[in-house]
Amino acid sequence: MVEIKNLTKRYGSKLAVDNISFTVRKGEILGFLGPNGAGKSTTMNILTGYLSCTSGEVKIDGYDILDNPIEAKKRIGYLPEHPPLYMDMTVREYLSFVCELKGVTEDHNEHMAKIMDTVKLTDVADRLISNLSKGYKQRVGLAQAMVGNPEVLILDEPTVGLDPKQIIEIRDVIKKLGKEHTVILSSHILQEVNAVCERVIIINNGRLVASDTAENLGKSLSNENKFQLRILGDERSALDALESIPGIKYVKSLGRKEAGTIDFVVESEPNVDVRAAIFMSLAEHNLPMLSFYAMDLSLEDIFLEVTQNPAIVDSVYDNVAEDEVEFVNVEEKPEEEEGDEA
Ligand code: ADP
Ligand code: MG
Repeated sequence: MVEIKNLTKRYGSKLAVDNISFTVRKGEILGFLGPNGAGKSTTMNILTGYLSCTSGEVKIDGYDILDNPIEAKKRIGYLPEHPPLYMDMTVREYLSFVCELKGVTEDHNEHMAKIMDTVKLTDVADRLISNLSKGYKQRVGLAQAMVGNPEVLILDEPTVGLDPKQIIEIRDVIKKLGKEHTVILSSHILQEVNAVCERVIIINNGRLVASDTAENLGKSLSNENKFQLRILGDERSALDALESIPGIKYVKSLGRKEAGTIDFVVESEPNVDVRAAIFMSLAEHNLPMLSFYAMDLSLEDIFLEVTQNPAIVDSVYDNVAEDEVEFVNVEEKPEEEEGDEA
């Protein structure tokens, strides 16, 4: 549904997006994860035709965003980082204005009613946008993206600046939208992407460092040295027993989850197998081990590993041939500043 090939964007000599390629299948919710300044907004602005790329190709449902902008853009709804809302319009007036802009052929009132119902704006339809809370303003931003029933929704950090309750509400709306749309959602928050997305792309410094399901990403990274265990006994003795084992990097207590027991996370030095030693030490100290399992890496662990050591996930480059991920020489061809597009 969305194909991005060898996308590169320079702002003057600053390489903001560096040869990124990925595809998004119809109906997928893709998380676009990266720290601030990674190049997420730049990529999304290019995907939606708001910004030109220095080189590369973007196709929406087969239509090239540059060669066929009208057909391509018809299929996209965009919630930019700073949604262009008109504060002195009511929600209804604003959405009606967007219907005009996008040339919606369906009856505008019916169309708006459906959208406002989906994102739960009906109650505030006749309120001025300026008087709405940040969470409601964000829903108006989502609503304008949905006008015209685009197949693809591109949402740039949709929960930024919202309080926890609003975040949960917006996430629920996005999940609902994901049932009928292809969604690309950017975030610098790992839990967010984890909560909403099926597949994750991680970018750092403009480069794609990983692309896979969160589950597969975990598998492709080593997770052989982090365990969680439940021990019958008191915390102090268990800590002593675990900490005395050579090769153990740290022990963290997770507290009581079951009467009389304590849960611990234990991490060993890389390439040291401490499993047998854990068993023996706990037995010696008369501390029965009730459960013991290797922990999956959280997205947070994955993120830290891939952003610090991109080589680690070479194997999960998404449909990108070896020669396509070659580093582009930044110094080679500095171009003019493109401030007017920002
Ligand atoms: P993200 O959305 O992931 O936080 P951006 O795409 O906004 O990242 O920015 C990527 C990089 O490009 C950053 O280093 C940012 O400072 C730089 N950048 C963004 N817009 C411009 C611009 N108009 N001119 C110059 N540099 C820019
Ligand atoms: Mg951004």
